[in-house]
Amino acid sequence: MPRVYYDFHMHSCLSPCADDDCTPANLAGMCALAGLQAAALTDHNSCRNCPPFVRHAQSRGLIALPGMELCTKEEVHVICLFPNVREAEDFSDFVYGLLPDIKNRPDRFGNQYVCDEEDNYVSQAEKFLLSAADIGIYEVAGLVCARGGVAFPSHIDRDAFSLLSNLGLWDGAMGFSFAERTRGSDPLKLPRIPYIFNSDAHALEDLPDARHSLEIAEKTPEAIIDALKNLCYHSGGFE
Ligand SMILES: [Zn+2]
Ligand SMILES: [Zn+2]
Repeated sequence: MPRVYYDFHMHSCLSPCADDDCTPANLAGMCALAGLQAAALTDHNSCRNCPPFVRHAQSRGLIALPGMELCTKEEVHVICLFPNVREAEDFSDFVYGLLPDIKNRPDRFGNQYVCDEEDNYVSQAEKFLLSAADIGIYEVAGLVCARGGVAFPSHIDRDAFSLLSNLGLWDGAMGFSFAERTRGSDPLKLPRIPYIFNSDAHALEDLPDARHSLEIAEKTPEAIIDALKNLCYHSGGFE
């Protein structure tokens, strides 16, 4: 089975906290330069820059997954990955409708640029994308799975916006089978579940050289989602 170097958590210029030059084409180019073979774009609460990202990443030979970093109503960050742009856009519209009606203030919080296929800024998302969506932590995995995707809690070891910091426990009933942790965190102090490592890049220079790999049955987004769902606990922690 092929192994692919991956990064399934990064932000584009649609996330107010990310650099404006993180356009979908620039990010796809940096992923290729970093030696990645599989990558997902995961902006806060929106998949609107995924269509150009997927197109540019595919043109560079990567397996590209559209995704999002959802902020649940408990303010827990969860990465949601989808097999194709259609499912991702459907989920993105659903989430946007469940965000509070708070407008972004670009001068204060940063730009939320939506890009077209040619990598031009065409508009800005109106609602503030760092808000919490009205979706509970127990609902996310089912909603994403129903669209052929997979969801996992982000940066579980961090002090903010993480499942452990905000809820204090890992409960199998939430439906997650693995999580993301930060490099260097101690897996023995964390729940005994499988872990993956991503960059959470918010700037082009934050994308590190490819380091973490995943065994997949074939080089498709669906096979990546399957492989993630079937990860096994390993006390060494895949680091
Ligand atoms: Zn996060
Ligand atoms: Zn993030």
